[in-house]
Amino acid sequence: MYSSSEPCPMCLVACYWARVPRLVYAATSHDAAANGFEDLQFYRQLALPNAERTLLSETAAGGEMHEVAARSLASWADKLPFPVEPKL
Ligand SMILES: [Zn+2]
Repeated sequence: MYSSSEPCPMCLVACYWARVPRLVYAATSHDAAANGFEDLQFYRQLALPNAERTLLSETAAGGEMHEVAARSLASWADKLPFPVEPKL
């Protein structure tokens, strides 16, 4: 994939999901930041542990909602025509 600028975090992840094998970009996230784009700040946020990010996020892990949500995911996986390979 060729891009005029380094992809933002969302587009970079889309490249991974689409299994794009190679990415070539011209302007960097630093170039984008110099012109007011926030991509670099978001990359920095993603590199931090959850507790250190400015976006407050909580997990319901261990609670009833976690069990319901986890069962829902397992139910979806059980309906696939092929075995699921965990991506841990
Ligand atoms: Zn993007």
